[in-house]
Amino acid sequence: MMISAKGNTLTITLSATPTTIGLGAATALSVVAYLTYRPPSPSPTKYPATTAEDFNAWGGKLLRWISDYRESCRDLPVISRVEPNYLQKALPTSAPTTPETYEAIMSDLDTKILPGLTNWEASNKFFAYFKPHASYPAILGETLCAGLNVMGFDWIASPACTELEVVTLDWLARFLNLPDCFLHSSPGPGGGVIQGSAGESATVVLLAAAKRKDADRSKMVVYISDQTHAIAEKATMIIGTQFRSIKTSPSNNLALQADDLEKQIKEDIKRGLTPIAVVATTGTTSSCAFDSLPPINAVAKKYDLWVHVDAAYGGAYACLPEYREKFVGLEDVDSFCVNCHKKLMCPFDIAALYVANRRPILDALSLQPEYLRNAHSESGAVVDFEHWQMPLGLELRA
Ligand SMILES: *Cc1c(COP(=O)(O)O)cnc(C)c1O
Repeated sequence: MMISAKGNTLTITLSATPTTIGLGAATALSVVAYLTYRPPSPSPTKYPATTAEDFNAWGGKLLRWISDYRESCRDLPVISRVEPNYLQKALPTSAPTTPETYEAIMSDLDTKILPGLTNWEASNKFFAYFKPHASYPAILGETLCAGLNVMGFDWIASPACTELEVVTLDWLARFLNLPDCFLHSSPGPGGGVIQGSAGESATVVLLAAAKRKDADRSKMVVYISDQTHAIAEKATMIIGTQFRSIKTSPSNNLALQADDLEKQIKEDIKRGLTPIAVVATTGTTSSCAFDSLPPINAVAKKYDLWVHVDAAYGGAYACLPEYREKFVGLEDVDSFCVNCHKKLMCPFDIAALYVANRRPILDALSLQPEYLRNAHSESGAVVDFEHWQMPLGLELRA
């Protein structure tokens, strides 16, 4: 390896491939200091750190503990019986100053944590909200992510991290029969990205929808129905727009009606407001209502609104041929979100957000500080997911 620093540029030559990173001079110096640093020989400490052997031994026991929990939780009470603040009473007020043994920590899991769990995975007995089911392979995947601990904010930060997300989101889109406009591999500007939640996804896309319009943010309006999940209203609180909740009726299976939507849009335009987006839902939380997309898309097109489809749990059913007609019209929407931690056997938290055009999202969320600039990003040949989401960092989450 060869390092050379010239002005603001640090060149690291590994084997035959030189990598040039544009860095601030201070950062360059700290990288050089790091790469040339030789630690002093370790001094014996009073409390030895966890070794690789300890990690293997206790890792094995922890995996066993997890599988024991999962195999037995069907017999545990679904709802925890603890009183509020039970854990504050059971734990010391400050962190231990001497190390705890792994035996003691595992025993705390059994005696202090398990009794305070609501057992969402308890088979057949959990009927609240939605039934999650994290599968063993997905739990192993999560463990691997923590073990690799990469930061994939842009492509160069870990190419495998970005590329695995690109490839697997295309796989998921195909599995769900989503239209080609949402695929990274299609020629258009669309693609998928993993977000933490359906709420985060709604916030990101509504921010993009607001950014598209040149108007006073407080006069912008997002349309939802009275069945829409509260995440949409919360997203409008965050981005600073108004929202209109349109009443639905049991005679229409509680689906948002395009006529009612258009009537409200017309009224709002008359009042000097700027409609920006409509959030449709395929599978509402409280009533399982499915909004019919084609008529909503037609109204949205007429008034140039962004259409976001919140399919947090219902989207998983798009894989089934018998439910395909519920998703007709997806080819004309702007974005679609499905939570993989609901019906797709992944542990919390993983929401797949698909956009037909990445540009408005990038316009709303891209910043390119000097320390993140690199030749690959500037070439435009790679995806940098930091610009598709609210946080900068992301782990190997695919
Ligand atoms: C679960 C659910 C949400 C909330 O999802 P988060 O990922 O927790 O933000 C939103 N919309 C619908 C339809 C849901 O089922």
